[in-house]
Parts: sequence; structure tokens; C-alpha cells
Amino acid sequence: MKHRLNILQTPTEHLKQWDLRAKHLQEVHPLKTPKHAPSMMGITPKTARFLRLKSLFYLLKEDPEHLFTHYFFKRPFFYAKRLIRSYRTSKSFTRQGDFFFYGIQNQEEFTKIASASDPLILIGFSYCHKPFECPSGRFSDQCQNKQDHPVCGQCFIGKCSSLASYTKAKLFYIPTVHYIGKQLFQAAQEHPERPILFLITACEMTLTMFGDWGNMTGAQGIGVRLDGRICNTMKAFVLSEQGIKPGLTCLLEETKHQVLDLILSLSKTSKDAACEKA
Ligand code: SF4
Repeated sequence: MKHRLNILQTPTEHLKQWDLRAKHLQEVHPLKTPKHAPSMMGITPKTARFLRLKSLFYLLKEDPEHLFTHYFFKRPFFYAKRLIRSYRTSKSFTRQGDFFFYGIQNQEEFTKIASASDPLILIGFSYCHKPFECPSGRFSDQCQNKQDHPVCGQCFIGKCSSLASYTKAKLFYIPTVHYIGKQLFQAAQEHPERPILFLITACEMTLTMFGDWGNMTGAQGIGVRLDGRICNTMKAFVLSEQGIKPGLTCLLEETKHQVLDLILSLSKTSKDAACEKA
């Protein structure tokens, strides 16, 4: 059962209640967490060399659903123009700390677009920061976010997902980099008249590799960098894309607060969402 939305509660009250319950659950049902959270460089220097080229090669070669050809040739001029524009920049994104910005400059611009132009908002979470005990399975695009489950009740993805119930955002759970591309392509295809705004969590490798394709779809948004046991080599990344990911990633505490603030800001711009969903 998905987390039920209590329309009598404000999003802030909802968060307070969630935190109280999570604190209790941590005592009675502690989750498996790594004893040591490693401090790893985002991408090793060897992997970083020609990464844009390697990304293009990987995205085209490891594409069982032929996403690129399927979507690209539906609007070849639209996509080609944006892809070329992205490749002409030195980087496909700008960065401030753990936040990677695609087509926008900062969080304020994200909130402004969200409130001003009725965008289609997509919020996605990488599978590698699901808890080991996740009832939906880690390498999966599912999140049951069960209301009474002791694991969901402590999971940051569950916390964000339940807060997002107060917004109009569409949620997705990311098993692969192609999956992110598919969500953006589909959104752009189905809603050509609306701006697409996204907020996703992923490791630095994914955020870097996905950038040009993200820009190609015309979507704007924010990628939030994961910490912990990330993939920082091509080999680890490819294994992770196949579901082989024994380590756990996480968001840093301050980054978690910033992500929650962003989702909270969306709830303020979606006052009618709760009524629609109730
Ligand atoms: S809330 Fe977390 S633990 Fe629960 S199903 Fe979703 S990802 Fe898994």
C-alpha cells in the first residue's frame, strides 16, 4: 500500500510526524548500514578522460530498447539542435556542491519555473540508495513505500516520495541511465507543449554521462550527487547498470535537507495537488 496522504496535515506537519516515526523505528528495527562510509572521488582521473565520448558510445551501444533511434527520429531537428548545442559547451551542466544544473543556474530558478509555467515535474531516485531491505527490491523501478513497513518508514526515498504526494510531480525510481533518458523522452513526447522539469538523485558518473542526452530532450532540472559507495570507474558503473551493486550510496545530511526543501517548495506551488490526489 502506498503511503496515504492525510489532507488535514500540512506538508511540514507530515515531515515532522515522519521523522518522529523514523526515530522510533531506528531503535526497534535498525536497518543494515555500512560500518564505514567511504569518502570516494566522484570519477577517477582515468575514467574522466574522454568521458563524453565514452558516454556517447555506451549510451548508443548498451541500449536494448533502441531509445535513441526510437525517439530521436520522431523529432530529429528538435533533438539534433539541442544535442549539438549541448556538445558545444565545455560541460553539459553547471555545478554547485552536490547540485548539478541542466539548463538552469540554481535552485531558485527551478522553483521559479515550477511555479510560473505549469511544467511537468519528474522526481527520480537512483536504486543504489534504496535500503538493502527494500521490499520492492533494490535493482527495480518500483517503490511500494508501504505505509506500515518498518523499512519504508526509515527510507529517505520513502520520505521524499510521501512528501511529493503533496505536489503534482511524477515519481520514478531509476535502475539505469537509459531509464532516466526514457522518462525524459517520453515526457517530452507526450507533453510537447509543457516544459519538463526534473529532480533526480544519482552518482557523479551518471549525472555526467546523462547530461548531453538530458539536454537533448529539452528538459531542465537538477541532478543531486550521491555520496557513499558510489561508482567512480566505468567498470563499476557498468556492473551497477546490471544490478550488481553490493555497496550503498546516500545523500549527505545537508544535501538531504536541500532536497526536502525543494520538494516542499513544489508543494507550495501545487496547492491543489492534495485535493486532486485525495
Ligand atoms: S520506500 Fe524505500 S524501502 Fe520502501 S519500497 Fe520505496 S525504496 Fe524501498
